[in-house]
Amino acid sequence: MIVTAEKSYRAEIGIKDGRIAQISGGQVSAAAQVLDAEGKWILPGIIDVHTHMELPMELATSCDDFTTGTRAAACGGVTTIIDFSLHRKGTSLEASLRDRRRAADGRVAVDYGLHAEIVEVNEAILDEIPRLVRDGVTSFKLYMAYRRDGRMVDDGGLYAVLKRTAEVSGLVMVHAENGPLLEHLTEQLLMDGKVAPIFHARSRPHQVEEEAVRRAIYLSRFAHGHLYIVHLTTSQALSAVQETHDGGFPVWAETCPQYLLLDETVYLGEGGGDFIATPPLRSPKDREALWLGLAQGGISVISTDHCPFTKEQKRLGMERFDRIPNGLPGVETSLPLIYTHGVYQGHLTANQLVAAMSANPAKIFGLYPAKGALEVGSDADLVIFDPQVEFTISAKALHMNTDFSPYQGFTCRGAVQLTMLRGRIIAQNSQFCGSSGYGQFLHRRIFEPDNCQFWSTHEKASSSAGGPAGQED
Ligand SMILES: [Zn+2]
Repeated sequence: MIVTAEKSYRAEIGIKDGRIAQISGGQVSAAAQVLDAEGKWILPGIIDVHTHMELPMELATSCDDFTTGTRAAACGGVTTIIDFSLHRKGTSLEASLRDRRRAADGRVAVDYGLHAEIVEVNEAILDEIPRLVRDGVTSFKLYMAYRRDGRMVDDGGLYAVLKRTAEVSGLVMVHAENGPLLEHLTEQLLMDGKVAPIFHARSRPHQVEEEAVRRAIYLSRFAHGHLYIVHLTTSQALSAVQETHDGGFPVWAETCPQYLLLDETVYLGEGGGDFIATPPLRSPKDREALWLGLAQGGISVISTDHCPFTKEQKRLGMERFDRIPNGLPGVETSLPLIYTHGVYQGHLTANQLVAAMSANPAKIFGLYPAKGALEVGSDADLVIFDPQVEFTISAKALHMNTDFSPYQGFTCRGAVQLTMLRGRIIAQNSQFCGSSGYGQFLHRRIFEPDNCQFWSTHEKASSSAGGPAGQED
């Protein structure tokens, strides 16, 4: 069963020279290797557009490097990741991209791209944007928080980048939290001696996110920009996005498995600090809203924000919630978890899963239809997925370089059986069998907003009874 963002149908796929050469009907050459996927699903390879391999933070560096992280990705059905450059004040965007490529090239087991992080805005930086877009780096990441780390960009800077980027058909991604507000709330809590992990969530209530999301949308509309909100987590912020769509203006949003599957009560339990991520985990009500947002098209993408630490690394900051290294592992587990909790439990169709985890990210980030599609001419990036298998997640059995999984003990229905990248099998039955360095850097195409209005196509599809979006098998 071939499952794409549009439809599910039975067919055979022929692959030659790393690309899909035919779909059903043709002659199979005697020399061909044949893989039997009877009873299984074939999905386009998962595209995780938000990962942080070997990201240095204050107390620790995220513990997957480009080698271990992309091996784990391959085992989880992920064939492309997009990570971030590490921009520092006083350096050019180009230099920071070059450094990051030096860290990744020759080590990655899946294809990869980079978003250009921007932590400082001036004329020289703005002048780099058209050059980078021409060179295939078409997305730029800005932070509305992390002022003390020197990463926060103010409203003027955000406006300027939105404007300049849209002029050359690029996309601006924002971490939307009101930095000064959450710093104030954090200080208040610490002064009251409130240092336990749950206060991480209290220091960043939904207002912190909603205000920043609304402000970013406002600035984007003023600048005629193209705005993508990373890791959206609350029903209030989702409403801001949906109101914008209803008003006829585009804005793109992603969420992550942790916000769909977990809630803030984990901070109260033993080892609650291990679950610290930013934004914090939210309420069960928010989880429901996010699933609905995905199904209705308000949220376009599921990424993981993969940024793992070991339990020992997390302990380094355990005496105070704001010191604990921020981030969770996720690149290897996203597909089975979203299949189980999204498709199997009835929140999403299989086609909606493929849209959010492969086709939409490929379209938004300039990779479609080489990636994100199973069409003649597409890269032979695919996953053979067995929707019948059941397994239980255990950090020990996973390939990510950490002893912690926030989903430890979760039972998954559906497992990745095989992952193929450009015609080569890179993982099979939870064993990595690719090679580090086979992954290529992806020069991405410009952003085409007209091809990414997913919320409007969804309305059309769901209103025509029996439309392709509603069909699974
Ligand atoms: Zn992130």
